Amino acid sequence: MSVTKTRAFALKTQDYRDTSLLATFYTRDYGKIRGIVKGIREAPVRFSSTVEPFSLNEILFYKRKKGGDLHLITQIDLEDLFTEVRGDLERLSYASYFIDLLNELVETEESNPAIFDLLHDALLFLSTKASCKRTARIFEVKLFESLGLMPEIKACVMCQAAHPTPAYFNVSLGGIACKNCSESGGLPVSKGTLNFLEHVRRSPFNELRPVKVSCEVGEELEKILRRFVDFHLSNKLRSVTFMEKMELV
Ligand SMILES: [Zn+2]
Repeated sequence: MSVTKTRAFALKTQDYRDTSLLATFYTRDYGKIRGIVKGIREAPVRFSSTVEPFSLNEILFYKRKKGGDLHLITQIDLEDLFTEVRGDLERLSYASYFIDLLNELVETEESNPAIFDLLHDALLFLSTKASCKRTARIFEVKLFESLGLMPEIKACVMCQAAHPTPAYFNVSLGGIACKNCSESGGLPVSKGTLNFLEHVRRSPFNELRPVKVSCEVGEELEKILRRFVDFHLSNKLRSVTFMEKMELV
């Protein structure tokens, strides 16, 4: 076993045996990892963090080379709890959605620092007065882009006609189609929405802070991205069910 230190967002925890915790983190250097935090429930003062979901920590863990993907986490130091996000039900729900979505879509132990930085940027955004919905749309697009899942939005996926107008978004085809190629069930998608998607995928997160979208584009984006997220997930996320119940989406 080798000892390793890295920054890590807590994604999920569950009680393990009598005194320990089974924790899933998204780390900057190793991607998603799972580990046992021994004795944390019996002697929490030994740790400076309670491993709250989406808290940012510095963790020390012993990487197991053999015998599965469960590592031994011996130290957790809290770096940021994102208190402003926790104090507001809507922001808290969106932050929970971000880590749920990330947890579902990323493979275990595939390093991708861009995804770590994306989650950090999104949580810092939520800590301000930024719109939760806009932050979510930016997070979704950039996460798909980082994972290589971004749909084709510049040309018809069937006949390759560039910038088709009108365009129809079709999840199972993996992008937009022109009128001739569109199958039934394609969602009409406006130029404004396609431009926004392209702008988001190209621009750094911080430059997107002042970007405003019209209500129509916002609603269209939400519909398209929701379909796209559902297509890639086998089950509905618990955080989404909660947000629907609370009418936050
Ligand atoms: Zn076509």
